[in-house]
Amino acid sequence: MIRIYNTLTNRVEEFVTLEPGVVRMYSCGPTVYRFAHVGNLRTYLMADCIRRLLVGRGYRVTHVKNITDVGHMRQEALETGGDKVIVAALAEGKTPQEIARFYADAFHEDERKLNILPADHFPWATDHVPEMITVIQDLFKNGYAYQAGDNVYFDVGRFSAYGKLSGNVGAALMEGVRVEVDPLKRDPRDFTLWKAAEPGRDMKWDSPWGEGFPGWHIECSAMSTKYLGTQLDLHTGGVDNVFPHHEDEIAQSEGAFGVPFVRHWVHGQHLLADGVKMAKSAGNEFVLADLEERGFDPLAFRYLCFTVRYRHRMNFTFSALRAGERALTGLRDRVWEWRGEPAPDREPPEAAEWRGRFNDALDNDLDMPRALGLTWEMARSDLPGGSKLALLLEFDRMFGLGLEAVPQRYPLPASLEDTIARRDNVRSQREYDQADRMRSALVASGYRVGDSRKETRVRPRTELEKREERWNAVSSSREVKSLLDLPPALEHTVVVVASNYMDDVKRCTEAILKWLGDGSSELIVVDNGSTDGTSEWLEEFSGRDPRVRVVYCDHVLGDGAAKNIGLKHARGRFIAVVDTSVEMVGDVLSPMARRLEDESIGIVGRWGLLTDDLHHFHDESESGDVDAMQAYCIGLRRDALAQSGLMRETFRFYRNLDIDFSFQVKSHGYRIVADGTLPMVRHEHRQWASLGEAERDQLSFKNFKRFLKKWGDRKDLLVSNK
Ligand code: AMP
Ligand code: ZN
Repeated sequence: MIRIYNTLTNRVEEFVTLEPGVVRMYSCGPTVYRFAHVGNLRTYLMADCIRRLLVGRGYRVTHVKNITDVGHMRQEALETGGDKVIVAALAEGKTPQEIARFYADAFHEDERKLNILPADHFPWATDHVPEMITVIQDLFKNGYAYQAGDNVYFDVGRFSAYGKLSGNVGAALMEGVRVEVDPLKRDPRDFTLWKAAEPGRDMKWDSPWGEGFPGWHIECSAMSTKYLGTQLDLHTGGVDNVFPHHEDEIAQSEGAFGVPFVRHWVHGQHLLADGVKMAKSAGNEFVLADLEERGFDPLAFRYLCFTVRYRHRMNFTFSALRAGERALTGLRDRVWEWRGEPAPDREPPEAAEWRGRFNDALDNDLDMPRALGLTWEMARSDLPGGSKLALLLEFDRMFGLGLEAVPQRYPLPASLEDTIARRDNVRSQREYDQADRMRSALVASGYRVGDSRKETRVRPRTELEKREERWNAVSSSREVKSLLDLPPALEHTVVVVASNYMDDVKRCTEAILKWLGDGSSELIVVDNGSTDGTSEWLEEFSGRDPRVRVVYCDHVLGDGAAKNIGLKHARGRFIAVVDTSVEMVGDVLSPMARRLEDESIGIVGRWGLLTDDLHHFHDESESGDVDAMQAYCIGLRRDALAQSGLMRETFRFYRNLDIDFSFQVKSHGYRIVADGTLPMVRHEHRQWASLGEAERDQLSFKNFKRFLKKWGDRKDLLVSNK
C-alpha cells in the first residue's frame, strides 16, 4: 500500500485512485524562456520517482506536464525588469516562439540526461488558448467569473472552498495577495483569468472579451482537463506552487466542472543554495550544464536528490554532489564486478526480504534515503554477487540511475587488452611483484584497476576522477586549514582571486611577479571556479614560476570565502590582497611593508574611503587615516590579520565586503591608512561592468545591509570621531 503525504489533507495517506489501476497524473512543467535550474529539476525528479513507483506497482499512468510559454513570461519579465535572455534574443531578431522552442528543447534534453521518464503529453500553453477560453466561459456560466474593463477575474468570494489547499483564508489570504493592487478587481483576493492586451503586445489572442491573453493559472486547468479529464488522481509541483497557483487551479477547475479536481496533491520542498531558495533572481542558481562543465555526470545529481526526502529542503553544494557522484560510481563499479559472477539458479530467500524492506521504504511517503541505504546494505551483505546484481538492477527501475547500461567489460584500446592479458598470466603464475608493477603502470596511464579473483579489471576514469586528479579542487573555505597562526615563513604573500576574465588575470598576476622579488615572497591565486580557460592558463603559469601557487575552487564561491582561502594559505609576514582590475606599475610591496611596521596600523592600501555617517562613503586617495580600504588593494600585517580574523563569508558579492572587513580590523584597535603614492593603476572592473544597474543595486544593497547590521552603531570607529 503506497502511502504519501497529501497537501490537501495535511497528512500521509493511502494513495487511492478514482478508477482502480489507473493514475491520471499532472505535473506543473517548466516556463520556457530560460534554462531550468537544478532546483526545478529536483521537483521533476520527485514526480519521476512517484511515477516509477506507481508503474512498478502495476498502475497504468498517464502523465501530463505542461510547457508554459505564455503567462509566466510576462510575470517574471515584469518582476525582474526585463529578462536578459529575452532581451538578448529579441535583439538578435528572435521571436518569443523561437525562444520558447529553444528552451523547451533544452528542458527535454535535461530530462533525458537525468533519466526522467518523458510525460505522455507535453501540452504547450499557447496551443490551448481556445480551451482556456472555454473554461472561463464555464466559470461565467456558473457565476464565478466577472468582467471588469476588458479583463476577466475569478470571484474568490463566491468559491467557498477557496483556501482549502494552502490554508490561506481570511487575514492570511489578504496578506498573500497584498502586494498586488489592481483597481479593476472587486476584491483584492480575486485573480485574473483573462487580461486585455496592452498596446504593442505581440502575444495576444481573440476572445469574447476582446484581444488579450490568459491569466497565470488557467492553462493548467484547461490542459489537465483536456488530456486527463476533469478529475485527477495526482498533481505535483514545488511548494511555491501551492499558493496561489494550485489554489487557483482548484478554484477554476471545481468552479467550472463542479467535481473534486485532484485527489492527491504532492509538493516537493525547495532546493537551496547558500541557505536560500535556488532562483535566478537570487543569483544562486545552477543549471545542469554548470554541473557538466565541472565534470559531473548529470545522474550524480539524480543520486544526490535521493539522499534527502522530498518534503525536506535540500541544500545544494558541490561537495555533496561530489559525494553523490562517488557513490554512484561505486554502484556502477559493483554492477561491473558482479556481471562477472555466475547468475543464481534460484533466488535466495534473503532476496525477497531485501525487496520487502525496499518496498516498505518507498511506501512510507517515498523514503528514498532509506531505500538508498538499504541498497547499500544489500550490496555489502553476503548474498552471492549474482543475486545482488539481480536485486540492484531491479531496484534501479525505481532509481533510474542507468545501472543496466554498465558493461561487464569496458571497451579498451587493443594494446591495453594485451597488457591486461599478460598481467592475468603473470598473476596466475603467482608472480605478484611483477603483477603489481604492471598494475601501477595501468593506473599511471589513466585507468581504474580492480582485481577480481582471476582477472584484471580495467575501466577508463570518469570525467570527475580525471578532474579531481588534475585540479585537486576545494569546494569551500572550510576545507582549507589556516596557516595564519603559524609564524611567517616568507616576507610577502600576494593573494589574487581569479574568476574568468583571463586577460585581466594575466595582466594582474604578471605585473605582480615583476615586482614580487626573489623566492622569499609568494603569489597565491585562488581560481574561483573559472570556466573560460583561466584555470588551464593558471596551471601553466604556476608551472613556470615556483613563487606562484594556485588553489582551484570547483565552483564559484562567494568573494569572502574565496579571499579567505587565499588568506588561509598565506605564509608571508605581509599580505596583500589585490584585485584583478589592478596593475602594479612599480614596487608596491616594500613601501607598504614599511608602513605596516607601525604596529598601530592594521591595513594599508592605495584607495581608501571616508564617511561621516556610515551611509555615504567618499573616495580618499590622499595619504592618511581612512575609515575603510577598498578591495582593489588591501595590505595587511600577518599578526594583525590573525588577531582581527578573516572576512565574513556571508558576503558572496564582493561589494561592501571590504568596508565590512575594514571595520572588523578597526574594531580590534588598528588604524587604516591610505597611501596615494603606491605605484598601481586601476583598469575597468569587469565584474561590475558586466552587471546591469538593477543587479548592481540589489547585490550592493544586500551587502550594505549586512554591513550596517553589524557596524551601524559603531560610529566610534570613524576617523572623524577620533
Ligand atoms: P517554473 O519554471 O519557475 O515555473 O518552476 C518549475 C517548477 O520548479 C515548479 O514546480 C516550481 O515549484 C519548482 N521550483 C522552483 N524553484 C525551485 C527550487 N529552488 N527547488 C525546487 N523546486 C523549485
Ligand atoms: Zn500548473
